[in-house]
Amino acid sequence: MTTVPAAVGEQAGALDAEDALAPLRDRFLLPEGVVYLDGNSLGPLPAAVPPVLTDVVHRQWGEGLIGAWTEHDWWDAPVRVGDAIGRLIGAAPGRTVAGDSTSVQLFNALGAAAALRPDRTLLVTDPGHFPTDRYLAEAVARQRGLRVRQVRPADLERFLAEEGDQVAAVSYSPVDYRTGELYDLEALTRAAHRAGALAVWDLCHAAGAFPLRMDDAGVDLAVGCGYKFLSGGPGAPAFLYVARRHHENLHTPLTGWSGHADPFGLAQDYVPAPGIARARIGTPPILSLLALEAALTAFDGVDLEQVRAKSLSLTGFFLRCAEELLAPLGFTAATPSDPARRASQVSLRHPHAYGLVRALARHGVVADMRAPDILRFGVNALYTTHQDMLTAAVRLRDITVAGDYDPTPQEPGAVT
Ligand SMILES: *Cc1c(COP(=O)(O)O)cnc(C)c1O
Repeated sequence: MTTVPAAVGEQAGALDAEDALAPLRDRFLLPEGVVYLDGNSLGPLPAAVPPVLTDVVHRQWGEGLIGAWTEHDWWDAPVRVGDAIGRLIGAAPGRTVAGDSTSVQLFNALGAAAALRPDRTLLVTDPGHFPTDRYLAEAVARQRGLRVRQVRPADLERFLAEEGDQVAAVSYSPVDYRTGELYDLEALTRAAHRAGALAVWDLCHAAGAFPLRMDDAGVDLAVGCGYKFLSGGPGAPAFLYVARRHHENLHTPLTGWSGHADPFGLAQDYVPAPGIARARIGTPPILSLLALEAALTAFDGVDLEQVRAKSLSLTGFFLRCAEELLAPLGFTAATPSDPARRASQVSLRHPHAYGLVRALARHGVVADMRAPDILRFGVNALYTTHQDMLTAAVRLRDITVAGDYDPTPQEPGAVT
């Protein structure tokens, strides 16, 4: 028990010693003694957030009352925070707005995309896409009289060669949330465009995890959430990116008063605001927006190319640990070993995934699982260390060898 093979132990130490991003860990308030590998579900608390929230609640709201909307520029928070996210996804200012949930933003994005291609009848999505993305594609299709086709990213070119002239939009994620496989966002965007379709991307597992080039890749619309790699807190506002070329003709289905050209004129009829502001919906969630804004300062001065390099080092090292310590116990890697096809997580398959993840948490390693058999280990290069990855692999090995977990499958309806 708890013996660590010398080679991987030394490698973890050496890789952490040469890690230029190591000081960034101080930007997060991580609990002592916990290895946190679930930041791709809920990012940990950035140190910058509590003082900002205290100030926003006690001084700005408590003392400023209604006047704080103008005095503290609350009204512009959706576009200001949107611009801060834009810097992480390769979007120039004025193309990203923050607010509402990913699900709401998806509905707006898919509805707007379909409206930009009114003569086409199909929406394409990934059968492996996160459920809300598939459900909302169906909802938008019903509303607009379209049909949804589920096509794996690997089959998109072939599908478009046959039915591409009917496709209004392709809605994909660059990352398979189960396996951590990374798809080629730029190549898939080009394929959609060759067919005259729009490319709508869900960046939930990408924003903040690796460099993205929304503007340069010609992405049409994108959404993403604020609480995974961006660490904006539980239920943090999501974001919507819209390419500049679509702004004048952008007609989102949720035309709330905040997106009006003159929101305080309280006019009888809706007139969309110029620019990305037309994608605003209702009163912005100020407490969560300002928490997210503070959280994003964890990225100040951080080069996302370096984040990507360290993330690959962490996941590559964990795959090596898994090969040495866990493969003999029946674990198999679901994540591609090819770095070009690997996002910022490693997924392992084991029939007792559920009980093992619960047991790991009892031993201070927080990961998560996806039914039926995936153990998911998310890494965030801003705070994860190679030692963390080794600890996770060693504890998982020890728990498995000792049989110190409940081997029954996940109970129905359990929240994971
Ligand atoms: C996390 C995630 C969501 C979450 O949507 P919410 O509306 O925030 O619940 C949506 N899509 C993908 C791909 C995700 O990973």
